[in-house]
Amino acid sequence: ADVAMYEAKRRGGGVMIYQRESDIHTPERLALMAELGTAIRDDQLVLHFQPKVQLSTNKIIGFEALVRWEHPFSGLLYPDKFIPLAEVSDAIHHLTEKVLDMALAQQQQWRQQGYHFSVAVNLSARNLIDDRCIVSLKQMLEKYQTPAGMLELELTETALMQDPDKAIELLNQLSQLGISLSIDDFGTGYSSLSYLRQLPIDTLKIDRDFVGEMLSNEQDIIIVRSTINLGHNLSLKVVAEGVEDNNTLNALGNMQCDIAQGYHISKPLSWPDIEKWLSSRAK
Ligand code: C2E
Ligand code: CA
Ligand code: CA
Ligand code: CA
Repeated sequence: ADVAMYEAKRRGGGVMIYQRESDIHTPERLALMAELGTAIRDDQLVLHFQPKVQLSTNKIIGFEALVRWEHPFSGLLYPDKFIPLAEVSDAIHHLTEKVLDMALAQQQQWRQQGYHFSVAVNLSARNLIDDRCIVSLKQMLEKYQTPAGMLELELTETALMQDPDKAIELLNQLSQLGISLSIDDFGTGYSSLSYLRQLPIDTLKIDRDFVGEMLSNEQDIIIVRSTINLGHNLSLKVVAEGVEDNNTLNALGNMQCDIAQGYHISKPLSWPDIEKWLSSRAK
C-alpha cells in the first residue's frame, strides 16, 4: 500500500492529497518523520548509484544517485518510505542538500580516480519553489570544484507543474550555471508540450512504466518510439529507465534511444559494489 500511495502521489499530483496526508499520520510514520532530522545530521542517509549506459557505445557515462536510509533499528529503508514524509516539511530541503553533498563528494573522488562520470540527483517539487535551492547548489559546486555540466538534476513533470512560473525561473538559473536538466518519469504527468518547449532542458527520461513491458505491449512501444522521436526533434537526449532484459536493451538501441538504465544493466548499488561491477564488466 505504501508503494501504491507513493506512486499515486508522484503520478497524480494534487488529487491524492487528502489520502496521502491521512496516511502520513500513522504512528510509524510520525515516528520516522521525527527521526528524519537526526538521520540527516548523523549520516544515516547513504547513496546507491545506478549506471547509465550510452547505447551507441555501450559505455557507462554516469550514475543516478538514489538515497537510502540506514535506520539504526529498522534496517535499510527505501525512498518510498521516507521521501513523501520529508516532502511535507522543510526536511526535504535538508535532505536534498545532504544528497547533493554526498553525490558531489563521491563524484570528486571519481575524478581523482580518473573516472569522468556524470552524477544525477533527484529534486522534489518543494525544492523547485525554494530560493535556498540555487544558493546551496552554487555552494556545493564550489565546495567540490564540480564542473557544472557533470551534474544532472532530475525533475518530474508533476513537480514542475506545482508552480510552473517559479519552476521556469529556477530552471533558467540552473541552466545558466551549466547544470544539465532532465525531465524524469516523462509521460506520466500532465505537462503540455508547449510548456516543456519553454524549459531549458537537456534530457527526457521515459518512465519505466512504458519501458518495462514495451516488447509485449503495442501501446507502450508506440509511446516509447514517439517519445524518442519527440525528444530528438527537440534536440534532447532520451533516456529509457527500467530496462529489465536484453531484448528491450537491443530494441531501444535500434530505435536510436540515447541512454539506458535499469536492472538488466545493474541495480542501484553502493559505490564499493559498483566498483566491483565495473571491474568485472571491463573483463
Ligand atoms: P526515480 O527517480 O524514478 O528512480 C528510479 C527508481 O526505479 C529507483 O527506485 C530505481 O531503483 C528503480 N529502478 C531502476 N531500474 C529499474 C528496473 O529495471 N526495474 C524496476 N522495477 N525498477 C527500477 P528507488 O531507488 O526506490 O527510488 C524511488 C524514487 O524515490 C525515485 O524514483 C525518486 O523519485 C525518489 N528518490 C530517490 N532518491 C531520491 C532523492 O535523493 N531525492 C528525492 N527527492 N527523491 C528521491
Ligand atoms: Ca530519477
Ligand atoms: Ca524516473
Ligand atoms: Ca519512474
